[in-house]
Amino acid sequence: MALGTASTRTDRAHTVRELLASGKQSYSFEFAAPKTEKGERTLWNAIRRIEAVAPTFVSVTYGAGGTSRDGTVRATERIATDTTLTPVAHLTAVNHSTADLRNIIGQYADAGIRNMLALRGDPPGDPMGEWVKHPDGIGYAADLVRLIKESGDFCVGVAAFPEMHPRSTDWDSDVAHFVAKCRAGADFAITQMFFYPEDYFRLRDRVTAAGCSTPIIPEIMPVTNVRQIERFAQLSNAAFPPELAERILAVKDDPAAVRSIGIEYATELCARLMAEDVPGLHFITLNHSTATLEIYENLGLHQQS
Ligand code: FAD
Repeated sequence: MALGTASTRTDRAHTVRELLASGKQSYSFEFAAPKTEKGERTLWNAIRRIEAVAPTFVSVTYGAGGTSRDGTVRATERIATDTTLTPVAHLTAVNHSTADLRNIIGQYADAGIRNMLALRGDPPGDPMGEWVKHPDGIGYAADLVRLIKESGDFCVGVAAFPEMHPRSTDWDSDVAHFVAKCRAGADFAITQMFFYPEDYFRLRDRVTAAGCSTPIIPEIMPVTNVRQIERFAQLSNAAFPPELAERILAVKDDPAAVRSIGIEYATELCARLMAEDVPGLHFITLNHSTATLEIYENLGLHQQS
């Protein structure tokens, strides 16, 4: 385990741009900022297990507001300084002035972090509510991409939506705004979770047709329990396949069977995407590594890493 200082990490740190340019499909994992000490222990157990398979990069989400935001900065800094992993720090514009954002970007830079995911974020408390920017802040993710790029030599990712952003009114404007984020300097994109590979392919085709070649990494989240069926749809607006819901509900009293169906579905989704030359796969872990590592093994990736 490398225990480098921030400065030695900076020398060795890779950017996602460089890692994607190597031509190998990338495999990455997303963690959520912990809110409690117990949560922090769970997170670090998962991080250490994921570290063993040497993923291309890992990312830590930025809380919608409140204390988990400090947890994001702390966890991402610790990944940069205490592990061999390449971290991507999420950052949102919610409730931050431009000065706040510059300050956080500076903290990440000081820890040797070179990759960031620039997100607008959602109105706190109601993701579907009207977006109101901070009076001294920024309005859209494209502005955050520009701010981060002006602040240093960062590699910047942005969000993409295979089923269109829930607040977008039509595909043309949705794709135009996505392409604007890329033109603002984004080096890569990660999608919202989705369940039908065709949704990803359609988005990719639309973006290509708009003259944009920014790599778009699909995000995968396996269903591991019955409660997630509703929760997923609420969180992501992703259409939940009725046939998958039916199979899961048929074994709802057998948690192991539910989990195994969810993992099998996610494995098949990944295999379809890999066969179509996606730049990589980004797994949501919910800070529990086992389901995503099982998919990783099912795909034969464990041996390659
Ligand atoms: P934007 O790109 O700014 O787009 C938001 C909406 O505005 C879209 O409908 C877009 O079409 C429209 N739009 C963009 N530019 C303009 C313009 N100039 N004029 C008019 N309309 C415009 N949220 C968190 O709080 N923390 C996280 O860590 C986090 N991680 C995420 C990771 C991934 C991979 C994804 C896909 C999402 C994540 N989110 C996170 C959720 C994200 O913040 C929300 O989905 C948010 O609603 C949109 O963010 P965005 O960066 O895509 O915004």
